[in-house]
Amino acid sequence: MNIIIVGGGTAGWMAANLLNHSLTNTHVTLIESPTVAPIGVGEGSTAQLKQFFDTLNISESEWMPQCNATYKLGIEFKNWSTHPGHEQYFHSFYGQTDLHTQQQFIKSCLLKRQGVAIDAHPDSYFLAAYLAKQQRGPHTQADFPFQQSYGYHFDSGLLGLFLANRATSKGVKHLKSTIAQVELDSAGNIKQLVLDENSDGQQCIAADFFIDCSGFKGLLIQQALAVPWLSFKENLFNDSAIVLPTMSNQLQAPQTTSTALKYGWQWAIPLTNRIGNGYVYSQDFCSADEAETELRATLGLLNCDVSARKLTMKVGRVKQHWYKNCLAVGLSQGFIEPLEATALHLVQQTIESFIACFEHNQPSEAKRDSFNTQINNRIEGIRDYIVCHYRASNRRDTEYWQANGQNEMLSASLKNIFQCWLSRNDLTSEIAHQGIENYYSSLSWHTLLSGYGVFPPSVAKPSYTQQQQIKELYNFNHQCASHFRALIPIIPQQK
Ligand SMILES: Cc1cc2nc3c(=O)[nH]c(=O)nc-3n(C[C@H](O)[C@H](O)[C@H](O)COP(=O)(O)OP(=O)(O)OC[C@H]3O[C@@H](n4cnc5c(N)ncnc54)[C@H](O)[C@@H]3O)c2cc1C
Repeated sequence: MNIIIVGGGTAGWMAANLLNHSLTNTHVTLIESPTVAPIGVGEGSTAQLKQFFDTLNISESEWMPQCNATYKLGIEFKNWSTHPGHEQYFHSFYGQTDLHTQQQFIKSCLLKRQGVAIDAHPDSYFLAAYLAKQQRGPHTQADFPFQQSYGYHFDSGLLGLFLANRATSKGVKHLKSTIAQVELDSAGNIKQLVLDENSDGQQCIAADFFIDCSGFKGLLIQQALAVPWLSFKENLFNDSAIVLPTMSNQLQAPQTTSTALKYGWQWAIPLTNRIGNGYVYSQDFCSADEAETELRATLGLLNCDVSARKLTMKVGRVKQHWYKNCLAVGLSQGFIEPLEATALHLVQQTIESFIACFEHNQPSEAKRDSFNTQINNRIEGIRDYIVCHYRASNRRDTEYWQANGQNEMLSASLKNIFQCWLSRNDLTSEIAHQGIENYYSSLSWHTLLSGYGVFPPSVAKPSYTQQQQIKELYNFNHQCASHFRALIPIIPQQK
C-alpha cells in the first residue's frame, strides 16, 4: 500500500513514524508545504506520549535533550475557584502508590458531599502533587519499586524536526511541495494530489490511501471530501490564543500551570530553555489587544517589545475521521482547547486505532464505522470534561465567567455526572455505567469536582478515626515522595 501524509506538523510526523513502523508492505510519503509553517504550539502531553516513544524504541536520553523537554506530573489549576482552600488544585497523572490512597479519596469526597468537614482536596491524596511541591521528578531511587506515570513538555518545532529525521532515516519519503488541488475519482475517493508550479518536475502524486494532517483547514477531509464540521462553540466559548514565550529563570517545574484570567486562562509550560506562555480566550468577550495586554501584565512584559503570536482556534470535530480513502489526524480532524493538553493524545489514539483496523487484512465498512464512532465518543468525552471545568468554576467576575456559569449547553452525559455528584450518589458507578472511564477516569472526575470545591457547607465534624486515617495518608505520601529523585536545576541559556 502507498500512503501519502499531507502535512509536516507534529500530527504528520507522528503518523509517519507510527505507520511506517507498524504497517508491513507499506510505503509512506509525507508532503509538507515549504510556505505553510506548522502551528508551532502544542508543547504539553498526557502520560500516553511515553508509550509512543516506547513503541518506536526511542529512549528519553535520545529525544528529550534534542527537544528541550522536561517531565510533567500533571496540571496545576490556579484561580479557577474562589472557594476558600480550593483556589488551586493539581490534576495528577496517577501512579502506583495512588492505588493505596484512591479509595480513601473517593470516600472523603462522599463524606464531604454529605456535609462532613473532612479534607477532600485532591492534593492531599495523590503523590504527584507532593512531588511537584518538592520539585521532584517521576523517577525513583533504586530501592523504591513503585512507578509514577508522567508526560512531557517539549518544544513543538524541535519535536517535529526530531520525528522528521527519525522517520526519513527509517525510509519515509519526504517531499517539500504545496498541494494546489485534490482530484477525486468517480467513486469519490482521492485519486491524486496536484502540486503547485514550484514543485520541481513532479506535478501529480497518487496513492492508495491519504492521511490528512494539513491542520485546521482540513485540505483533504474538509475541503476536498466535504466531510461536515461540527462546531463546539456553544459548549466552549474560547476561540483564540495569544502565545508569548519567556526565558526560563527559575527551577523547572514538573507541571503545566493553568491560571484562570478575566476572559479565559493562561498556560505556563516549562522547557529547559524557556517557558511557553499563552492565553486562551474568547473573542466574543475581549479583543486580541485586550487579551495581549492582560497576558503581558501577568508576565511583567507590558513595556517590553518581545512580540506575541495571535492564533484563532477552530473548536469542534469532523463528522467522520476516516472517510473514503482518507483519514484525518490532528487539527484537521478536530480540536478542543488545550486545557488538558489532549490533542496529541488524540493524534496517537487515532493512528493506533487505525493501524489496529489493518491487523487482519483489509478493514470492512463496519470496522471503519465503529472506528469513527469510537473516535467521536473519545472527542466528546474530552469535550465534556473540559466543559465541566467551566461549569464547576464559581468565578463570576466578568461577563465571560458569568456566561460560562450559565451555559446550559451540556451533554446528557455531563448533566448526569453533575446530578450524580450533587445528589451524593456513587460517581464511580455512574462513570462506569456511561462507559466513559477510558476518556477520563472516575478519579479524574472526582479530582476536578473536589478540586474546585463543589461541596455543600459542612455541618458535621469527621470522627477521630477518620481524622487519623487522613493523617496516616499525609505521612504515607510524604514518605513515598522522599524516594523520588529531585529535579536537576536548569541553568537558563541566555540569548
Ligand atoms: C493555542 C494552542 C495550544 C495547544 N496546546 C497543546 C498542548 O499543550 N498539547 C497538545 O497535545 N496539543 C496542543 N495543541 C494542539 C497541537 O498544537 C496540534 O494538535 C499539533 O500541533 C498538531 O498539529 P497538526 O500537525 O495537525 O497541524 P499543523 O501544525 O498546523 O501542520 C499542518 C501542516 O500541513 C501542511 N500543509 C498545509 N497546507 C498544505 C498544502 N496545501 N500543501 C502541503 N502541505 C500543507 C503545513 O505545511 C504543515 O506542515 C494546541 C493548539 C493550539 C491552537
